[in-house]
Amino acid sequence: MDLQNHHHNSLTIGMCLSEEQVIKTVMTRPKIGRGNRITGLITELYKVERHWQVTAILVLYGLPRLFTGSILAHEMMHAWLRLNGYTCLEPDVEEGICQVMAHMWLESETMAGSISSSSSSSSSSSKRRAKSEFEKKLGAYHKLLIEKNPSRVYGAGFRAAMAVVNRYGLRRTLEHIKRAEALP
Ligand SMILES: [Zn+2]
Repeated sequence: MDLQNHHHNSLTIGMCLSEEQVIKTVMTRPKIGRGNRITGLITELYKVERHWQVTAILVLYGLPRLFTGSILAHEMMHAWLRLNGYTCLEPDVEEGICQVMAHMWLESETMAGSISSSSSSSSSSSKRRAKSEFEKKLGAYHKLLIEKNPSRVYGAGFRAAMAVVNRYGLRRTLEHIKRAEALP
């Protein structure tokens, strides 16, 4: 995941590493000649299996909880796509759906009543409330960054994917993308 800064350079803040494994199974069988005599061996390619393995998810260290969480949600969506056979998506479709996941995670984290579960029992309730307000605003800010991102891949990709998810739901959208390798 890249973050566009104000100078239009980009900074990598998260990464999902994966590799494709191709397993070829070769079969050897005897070649039968005249009089049922074995005259040699036939070696042929029996089957080719391909699958993807996710080897690592990397996230830039030291960012606020909500920012780190949204990057993880984004990268985990990449991982899920790899592991479930979505391997030929256009960058704007893939990054768009990953940004939808980051946005949905932020949404769920900043919904009323969902924050402060991680606060320790020793902190006062007013402190906790202040943290909640702060996190709510920070979450809203990160959602806005995703929504207004000017990039064609991350921004326009997100807006197109979010519109479809709002209309059909995430599950149906993903099922369609699997079949068509594009948004409906
Ligand atoms: Zn990404």
